[in-house]
Amino acid sequence: MTRISNEKKEQCSGCGACATACPTQAITYAYDDEGFLAPSVDEKLCVNCGKCVKFCHLQGENSGKGKKVVGQYAAKIKDEKIRANSRSGGVFTALSDFILERGGVVYGAALLGVEKVEHIRAETPDERDKMRGSKYVQSDTTRIWEAFKRDVADGRPVLFTGSPCQTQAARLIIGGERDNVYLCDFVCHGVPSPILWRDYISFMEKKYRRTLAAFDFRDKREHSWESHVEGLTFVDQKTVYSRRYTNLFYSNECLRESCYACPYTTSERTSDFTIADYWGIDSVAAEFNDSKGVSLLLVRGERGEKALDAVKERLDLIDTSHTPPPHNNLQRSTSRPETRDAFWEDYRKYGFKYVSVKYGRYDALRKIKYKIFDKLS
Ligand SMILES: Cc1cc2nc3c(=O)[nH]c(=O)nc-3n(C[C@H](O)[C@H](O)[C@H](O)COP(=O)(O)OP(=O)(O)OC[C@H]3O[C@@H](n4cnc5c(N)ncnc54)[C@H](O)[C@@H]3O)c2cc1C
Repeated sequence: MTRISNEKKEQCSGCGACATACPTQAITYAYDDEGFLAPSVDEKLCVNCGKCVKFCHLQGENSGKGKKVVGQYAAKIKDEKIRANSRSGGVFTALSDFILERGGVVYGAALLGVEKVEHIRAETPDERDKMRGSKYVQSDTTRIWEAFKRDVADGRPVLFTGSPCQTQAARLIIGGERDNVYLCDFVCHGVPSPILWRDYISFMEKKYRRTLAAFDFRDKREHSWESHVEGLTFVDQKTVYSRRYTNLFYSNECLRESCYACPYTTSERTSDFTIADYWGIDSVAAEFNDSKGVSLLLVRGERGEKALDAVKERLDLIDTSHTPPPHNNLQRSTSRPETRDAFWEDYRKYGFKYVSVKYGRYDALRKIKYKIFDKLS
């Protein structure tokens, strides 16, 4: 194969690496009919050089061999303010401090306004802080790669953070492991569609007849870190909590097609760090869970260990390597629901509100049905 194909949706994670690799700018990205960014190749410009395939982590042969985990921890950042603003234990901030304090650059996903999640570049703690917190929507990485390549080539310490497919793309773009580059991914359930997300925002603005000023995908202000409640703050400071988007996320129809065939559902990855919500912490070290957030941290390689050593005093850490993490997505991808095609057909015909009512009922019955389906499939 000399050029990437968009025929099999499960073979494209939408990272943008192919467009960056193309010497004739023959590849452009646009939102597909499910609202995910997808490439298309202009055949008139394509010179069949094969670079796009070489740099594709799903269609090329370059996925890279995973490294063994050398450290497994439960982690909480000691600074309570930072932890309150982080999804779980705030370990991302401690790891990124290591880079920033050495004059480096951090890459990660930020919520721009309330409507778009995109990867940005940070050289200061203020810029980096925009990356804090999980945004349960696919982040756009297509415009970040040139800056990333430049920083890496300049020899600056660089931390790239993102979903496992995005960190794998980052690794391929720079030609494999580099001494000045650290990669941090997370245990990933799958990424929902950015356009569906925008529709949700419009829907909530209409419903409350107000403009949204801020959004928290998992608001910890009045809810424990283990619950999953969205917090919406409107311009007049009215705050409402909802589970409408969360329920769609967990119903799984809105995930990218490639997520159901994710090859990174293992602890052996090419990244230096994997972070996650520490589900199951109560059965490992209940006293460590104060309801404000605990991260799972997996460390690979000597470099990863050294970086952690350098920021260790900022974290409360316990070694949990005696108990394997219970996360399903470290073993297999999220199952493709049998209702996925119907979901998108309904969405295209009837729009957001209709699908959110019909499919976003993550109630007890649906949970049981999903568990049975998940086991059988
Ligand atoms: C789409 C998605 C699915 C996830 N699924 C699971 C799961 O199934 N199980 C689990 O245990 N944990 C999951 N996580 C990870 C988890 O929510 C936290 O990232 C983790 O607990 C670390 O939190 P923290 O407090 O250390 O840092 P935080 O400060 O909360 O972490 C921020 C980090 O997440 C990155 N990030 C945030 N949103 C995105 C995005 N949309 N795309 C790419 N990178 C992003 C930022 O770049 C930064 O590196 C998921 C995260 C996302 C974004």
